[in-house]
Amino acid sequence: YTRIAEAMTTAEPVTQLDPEALRPDFPILKTRLHENAVPLVYLDNAASTQRPKAVIQSLVDVYEKQYSNVHRGIHWLSDQSTDLYEESREKVRQFINAPARESVIFTHGTTESINLVARSWGDANLKPGDEILLTEMEHHSNIVPWQQTAERTGAKVRFLPITDDGLLDLEKLDEFLTERTKLFAVASISNVLGTKNPIKRLVERAHQVGAVVLVDAAQSVPHAPTDVQDWGADFVAFSGHKMMGPSGVGVLWGRAELLEGMPPFMGGGSMIRRVRTDGFEPADLPAKFEAGTPPIVPAIGLGAAIDYLHKVGLEAIAQHEHQLVERAHRGLEAMGGIRFLGPSPEHKAGIVSFTIEGIHSHDVAQLLDRYGVAVRAGHHCAMPLHRRLKISASSRASFYLYNTAAEVDIFLDALQEARNVFR
Ligand code: PLP
Repeated sequence: YTRIAEAMTTAEPVTQLDPEALRPDFPILKTRLHENAVPLVYLDNAASTQRPKAVIQSLVDVYEKQYSNVHRGIHWLSDQSTDLYEESREKVRQFINAPARESVIFTHGTTESINLVARSWGDANLKPGDEILLTEMEHHSNIVPWQQTAERTGAKVRFLPITDDGLLDLEKLDEFLTERTKLFAVASISNVLGTKNPIKRLVERAHQVGAVVLVDAAQSVPHAPTDVQDWGADFVAFSGHKMMGPSGVGVLWGRAELLEGMPPFMGGGSMIRRVRTDGFEPADLPAKFEAGTPPIVPAIGLGAAIDYLHKVGLEAIAQHEHQLVERAHRGLEAMGGIRFLGPSPEHKAGIVSFTIEGIHSHDVAQLLDRYGVAVRAGHHCAMPLHRRLKISASSRASFYLYNTAAEVDIFLDALQEARNVFR
């Protein structure tokens, strides 16, 4: 962790992001709500982000001018949509520095990407005696598919513990990552704790014991630069809707040699080279894993979101969110009676989860909503983590490039008011 913190402080200086200059790009942020017309303060970005006009317009443009099914028709319109869809795949490839376009698979989201690997790679490679290593901070999307794979194959699921500070307990790594570990699936950033995990180091260690590594990058790809080759990972999964793209599209990147050796996940149109009454022959990558009509327009919209992210700059986004998190932490600390989930701001991304003594997190979220502040409350699809923390629910504020310091202050003020209600 120290290494990561050092790398962050010695990195090239980045241009400061000005959220006020970006906000006009996001029509939904002008929303006023409730009878007193309070402005919307959208702090639920870890669940899903909002989209700029450029992304919305890209969808309208395709539907109005270039829409057809892809890879099928031998007509002009089909060529148009196929070109846009494939251009978008190339944008994703560059965005995550993947070596080959063919190993970028469009799915419907992180959940499907992980299920694809769990079904296809997992069923073909795991057997009784093998172990799948997860961590105590995983999202259900990176737990349940592996539990299902374990049920089918007889492999065992284990969980690398976290420390009380909300970091992975790296001292226990040798105990949990062993010759029996065939797959290690880990989030790059926890959707609850905000913890940034040392992925490169974890991959190196996992490869030493011969394990394949899947990174659930749903919370990191939208917020900081990603280089899958630098990570050295074998599979990386993320979702479009968490990075200003449309919902209904996600990505699985995989090492080409692994993807080539895997059986198709779903059967249907597009994923075959040939079908006869006695069987089928799968298509080459990426078609092999894109059965049926893919999320054509959402994938094109994801390309537009990537263009927007490039324009703003991922380093600038990460730095901006860090400032907001520090401000939120300072304010909450000053308030007292708050339990933070997760580490101090230096080790985390733009997510602040907490509980307040004597107030249920659902009540917190409901009271904040009266002030226009949208936060998430509940277990955030991480029940094992909440159990480990000995709580049933928490409140979570999560930031993105369009959030301002003034919004953090509105959130803090509203929280103080909410507490007064319960006094
Ligand atoms: N993994 C993490 C860390 C997440 O935060 C989420 C969404 O909240 C997911 C996986 C699932 O993403 P999706 O619902 O887009 O498939």
